[in-house]
Amino acid sequence: MTEISSHIETEKRNLLDKLQYIKGVGPKRAEAFINEGIRNTFDLLTYFPRAYIDRTGASSIRHALLTLKKLENIESENSIADFVLTPEVTIIGRIISISEHNFAGRKKLLKIILNDGSGTSANILFWNRINIFKSIYKEGMVLSVSGKPQQDKYNSITYSHPEIDILDEEDEQVYKAGGILPKYRISEKMAAAHINLKVMRMIIKNLIASDLKFINETLPNHIIEISKLQDIKSAISNLHFPTDNDALNYARYRIKFEEIFYFLMKVELSRKSVKVRENGVLIDPKSSLARQLYDTLPFELTADQKKFLWDAAADMKSGCPMNRLLQGDVGSGKTIVSLLLILMVVDSGYQCAFMAPTEILAEQHFKSISKYLEPYNIKIVQLVGGQKNRIRNQILQDIVDGSARIVVGTHALFQSNIEYNNLALVVIDEQHRFGVEQRGNLIKLSKKSHEGKPVTPHVLVMSATPIPRTLTMTAYGDLDVSIIKTMPKNRKPIITKVAFDSNREQINSFLRNEVNSGRQAYIVYPLVEKSEKLELKAATEHYEYLKTEVFPDLKCGLLHGQMFWYEKEEAMNSFLNKEYDILIATTVIEVGIDIPNASIMIIEDAERFGLSQLHQLRGRVGRGTDQSYCFLMTKDKFKYNMKHGNSETEERTAAIIRLKTMEETSDGFKIAEVDLRLRGPGDILGTRQSGMPEFKYIDLINDAEVISHAKNTVIDTIEKDANLKLPQNSIIRSQLINRFGSENSFLSIA
Ligand code: ADP
Ligand code: MG
Repeated sequence: MTEISSHIETEKRNLLDKLQYIKGVGPKRAEAFINEGIRNTFDLLTYFPRAYIDRTGASSIRHALLTLKKLENIESENSIADFVLTPEVTIIGRIISISEHNFAGRKKLLKIILNDGSGTSANILFWNRINIFKSIYKEGMVLSVSGKPQQDKYNSITYSHPEIDILDEEDEQVYKAGGILPKYRISEKMAAAHINLKVMRMIIKNLIASDLKFINETLPNHIIEISKLQDIKSAISNLHFPTDNDALNYARYRIKFEEIFYFLMKVELSRKSVKVRENGVLIDPKSSLARQLYDTLPFELTADQKKFLWDAAADMKSGCPMNRLLQGDVGSGKTIVSLLLILMVVDSGYQCAFMAPTEILAEQHFKSISKYLEPYNIKIVQLVGGQKNRIRNQILQDIVDGSARIVVGTHALFQSNIEYNNLALVVIDEQHRFGVEQRGNLIKLSKKSHEGKPVTPHVLVMSATPIPRTLTMTAYGDLDVSIIKTMPKNRKPIITKVAFDSNREQINSFLRNEVNSGRQAYIVYPLVEKSEKLELKAATEHYEYLKTEVFPDLKCGLLHGQMFWYEKEEAMNSFLNKEYDILIATTVIEVGIDIPNASIMIIEDAERFGLSQLHQLRGRVGRGTDQSYCFLMTKDKFKYNMKHGNSETEERTAAIIRLKTMEETSDGFKIAEVDLRLRGPGDILGTRQSGMPEFKYIDLINDAEVISHAKNTVIDTIEKDANLKLPQNSIIRSQLINRFGSENSFLSIA
């Protein structure tokens, strides 16, 4: 045996020692626990139930059926999101029959029928491992069953291979008396060591009696008191054996609070320490340029726009680098406020960079910024890929000698051969399109652009993809966040309707009418082809068909992802100049493009698009003063789904929810919440997620209240004791080191 493996053996034996002397454990079960990562008494004490069997958590079978029926008819529901939120139903009932069915082709089925006296019965079906299940379940047993039931044609509900717990007589008594029974995750290895639910409850009960007293408090007392939290010992005890639902909820709150509190504390301290360590450029917000533009705007800024300007200006004069996220729906007026900031920076004698995700967008920003700045003598240049060498070299020269004060462009902006001149502000539009590294590169270039001392530029990232509040607080905790919630006053809400293939004639003639009275329209196709070649073919075919067969009387243009940037630009410009009535496009028009006269959008195969994508697309209309319309076209078979409901596949259900949500609301934040529920945080955060831990207790979708409570407590604690030096906060320090290691710099901010 090698030294290392013998060491591991010894180690394992020590841990075994610890666990196996707990009443009811012994060496065999201890080994099974260790295999599950439960290595010591602390791990076991915090091996919390994954669910509970109780009256409030369970539904009668009849109620479950009614719920399913209601879900079917989701048209009558106010919030579609509630629909998503009821994925699992737990029922409790007695087995009244067990039967085996043979089908031709030798397929077998085991069917158990449960009754709970509510007037409806439930079927449980097993298709695999039938012999095992047959030996476990007997008539007369009481089962707790959890899963996603379906309504069957005989008006009862059916579960396939659900999760099942057997309740013995004692359990049944507890349940009937309104008690709460903990359910633990029992792995196969644990089961093999004869650890079942009963045994598990007994072991934990013994452990609480013998060892709970050794657990130390993990939050400072003053926070427990002010925040009215449960102490750690009561919380652990209540999580295992809650006396009632209030006690359980109180305990859960405490354990969630603690988890998110320490995470947010770490993020906040790191953010502070970056601010203290890095030099920012001092920008004087009293800028005559910004003032002039502000005074000549043809509209009044909204309160949210003003608040943002105020906060960002305060950041930039603080001497620390600004790192701010500005969120606001498409058309909420982010660009204009970022321009006012840019002017402050230019006025203080520094250069600014404005980065957009696509060439079309860069072009559009370049044009609109140039237009705003016409009255002033400020040089603004545009840097994109594919520019001719001669032009490009001139631009690079203007950038390096500082004559160019504002540089607008795509990711061409952070190529390493570009030398900036005192670059002090980087504005990034639609930040979710860029990776964290790309942003980092631009900041590096900026640092090199200041003679002598390295300074970190101010960074403003803007996003029209609203991020749910819980994610902003956690994943974007390193940024200050501003939100523009209210839209400029003159906007009319867009009328959104789901329409079906059989409505096509109607929709087409509606479109024709609008065009005839001077408006323009988008028709958008999803990218469904796997290869670029096929995609090009599909786009061109649609275009040809619409142009010749459907709208021969109207002028149609085409825009797709396989065009060169100047071709795209040409198409967009022609549309802007009304040379086209209809622009037939793929999703390349998704972000940013501003054509106020376009008031109709038809989205084809709308069920294929993601929710936030639909929302972004829709944002292309409704930018002028005319009433705008968005039609979400889908197949007739969905008509049935939308009306009668049909949750047979999750995919289809999700598609219905997306379409319904679009009809229901145009509030980007509401849409973002639903999107989060449909897709989960991982998908939405993308590159951001790398810095996020897997939370054990916190649920990013549903725990907004705890998260914001913890966030406020973090801010408050740091405000009173910036370096956590007070004795009352020593627990926080030691917990941070425990959880995140001591080598992190966040604790060194002295
Ligand atoms: P975003 O970048 O957030 O999508 P923009 O800055 O492009 O939005 O603004 C969309 C349009 O609204 C622009 O034409 C802009 O001039 C106009 N706008 C911005 N702020 C206001 C306001 N407070 N009142 C009226 N119109 C505004
Ligand atoms: Mg924009």
